[in-house]
Amino acid sequence: MAELSTNVRYIKGIGETRAKALEKLGITTLRDLISYFPRTYEDRTLTRPIRDLTEGENVCVRAMIAADPTAHRIPGGRPIVRTRAVDETGTLDVVFFNQEYRKNSLHRGEIYIFYGKVEGQRRHQMVNPLLEPEGRQHLTGRIMPIYSLTAGISQLMLTQAVRQGLDACRELLPDVLPDEVRREHRLCYINYAYENVHFPDSPEALTQARRRLAFEELFLLTCGLRLLRSRREDVFGPVCRKVSMDLFYNALPFTLTDAQRRAVEDTIGDMTAGRPMNRLCQGDVGSGKTMVAAACIWFAAQSGWQSALMAPTEILARQHFETLSPLMARLGLTCALLTGSTRSKERRETLAGLAGGTIDLCIGTHALLTGDVQYGRLGLVVTDEQHRFGVNQRAALSQKAEAPHMLVLSATPIPRTLALVIYGDLDVSVIDQLPPGRQKVDTFALGESYRPRVNAFLRKQVQEGHQVFIVCPLVGDGDTLPDERKAVTAYAKKLQEETFPDLRVSVLHGKMKPKEKEKVMETFAAGESDILVSTTVVEVGVDVPNATCMVVENAERFGLSQLHQLRGRVGRGQAKSYCILLSEHPSEETRRRLKVMTRTNNGFEISQEDLHLRGPGDFFGQRQHGLPTLKIADLACDMQLLEEAQSAARALLCRDEDLSRPEHRPLLERVRELFHDTADSMN
Ligand code: ADP
Ligand code: MG
Repeated sequence: MAELSTNVRYIKGIGETRAKALEKLGITTLRDLISYFPRTYEDRTLTRPIRDLTEGENVCVRAMIAADPTAHRIPGGRPIVRTRAVDETGTLDVVFFNQEYRKNSLHRGEIYIFYGKVEGQRRHQMVNPLLEPEGRQHLTGRIMPIYSLTAGISQLMLTQAVRQGLDACRELLPDVLPDEVRREHRLCYINYAYENVHFPDSPEALTQARRRLAFEELFLLTCGLRLLRSRREDVFGPVCRKVSMDLFYNALPFTLTDAQRRAVEDTIGDMTAGRPMNRLCQGDVGSGKTMVAAACIWFAAQSGWQSALMAPTEILARQHFETLSPLMARLGLTCALLTGSTRSKERRETLAGLAGGTIDLCIGTHALLTGDVQYGRLGLVVTDEQHRFGVNQRAALSQKAEAPHMLVLSATPIPRTLALVIYGDLDVSVIDQLPPGRQKVDTFALGESYRPRVNAFLRKQVQEGHQVFIVCPLVGDGDTLPDERKAVTAYAKKLQEETFPDLRVSVLHGKMKPKEKEKVMETFAAGESDILVSTTVVEVGVDVPNATCMVVENAERFGLSQLHQLRGRVGRGQAKSYCILLSEHPSEETRRRLKVMTRTNNGFEISQEDLHLRGPGDFFGQRQHGLPTLKIADLACDMQLLEEAQSAARALLCRDEDLSRPEHRPLLERVRELFHDTADSMN
């Protein structure tokens, strides 16, 4: 007897060869198979009169064979069979290539349902249609699933495999949703849901099925995140005394915005509550998240706790060090920088200081995570630019101490509901306000024909004493990415030699050694270079207030949120700043996307658009987060369902906080299964 974990090769009618092919789609178990949901559907319930057909559409036609099929061979030897079919309204030519048997299997006077693509404007024709005798229909007369395929698997084969899979597990599917949840939210039974999501009886049945499955997915996700979280709430966090922040505020060269203050207050609330803080501080580029982190660090230090601040790149770590160490020094705190390129003598001293507790703040890259770094009294871990770090890395750092307070800074302004899912284990503070005096970065989306004017404009900016970023994505042929170093270097060379021989062009790319990168950034920041050509390594955090222009080549290759990040590199000084998005052959879709950038500077609005246009997968590789992937719920459209599922999960967990009641056993097991990877790393 099959189980959901049974390998598909043992399912009746599938076998070894097909199982191999299915594996390419990520399908190995019976559960994988039935959870391989259709990409879309085709309604083959309705047949259309021949007279009303239009070229290019896929339709079903009910028609009678009106002529004996004729067969001949076309040059090259391929057999071709032709016949004619009629209904009350017209005639349809039917042609089969490589299906010689049709000559003898089709008979004048028989009625068939033909399904295929209409060709020919006046006289309609179908080539190699699907056809089934009326009354004996399997692939017509109903709504058919359309699956995403890969080489070696046809639509028909996959459809059949799913059919076998569903038949094999009819008795097996446990309904993980508690009955009362199912009833309260008017969800259908699980068997009905799986059956109808693949082979819907009607559009309404499909809607019901999808709703049930999406709800379940979001419900499980929420339950899992809540369980993870409650586990951590049992833990004691580093205890912080409540002290006035005035000393800190007075040491700053500016007044914090109200939004920054609110975020600081949130964190203080967390750190004095006895449990470890787990907070995401989300704010647009330039909203001043670093100061919120600084406030926390100072606050923790008042109770004797050390802090670690982890940045995704060495450049960024260094920049944080340069901003924060003078401030910390004014406040009487000691600060150290620890990266992959810290010299060993210095490194030894820093390690000693951390272990001995004489260093209050250590700033660095992932080098903060390596085994030999021990902290005497680590109380707070701040991670900057969260999307570069996965759940696992965060967890690794938190293992450096019992359960330190965690603050995550993210410049990816994601819609709140999405944040709830992705960072469901975190509390969220949003900094929805920029420091005063910021100006809008004027943005233009331009085609190739504008290049001479763009170049002239850049030259003018430089002549006025400003600097320019030019970002180019890696553009390769097909699947192979070009050598990053070569591609960017060649581009910069050309720019230097042919376009701007009189200006100083420098290059930055991800393949450079950290030291080299730093050198280039330093030179640029010091104004000793006019134009910096780079890959997206400048995306995060680097501050060069004199840079007024951000040019993005092949802008269509970037997500909107990423473009927004890039744009955030300019407009940091007094001078008017510009962002120019170039794309060679902008499609309608590209034009529409880039237009969003020219219309608004609001990161939240942009991310909302991104979510609608590209789906949530683009925000982060979801895998990177260690959270289960969503297979059917669509966060761009299912926001309301998400809220419903979340409130259902909350209500259930109020009644049975660790899902230990026997009737919740299937639910608990399923949640454990889904969170298998994450749970390990978060314990
Ligand atoms: P991000 O949120 O992108 O990390 P930063 O923390 O780097 O932003 O802050 C961007 C710039 O704004 C920095 O130069 C910082 O000193 C400055 N800044 C931060 N808060 C304020 C404020 N309240 N008033 C004026 N300038 C501020
Ligand atoms: Mg920052």
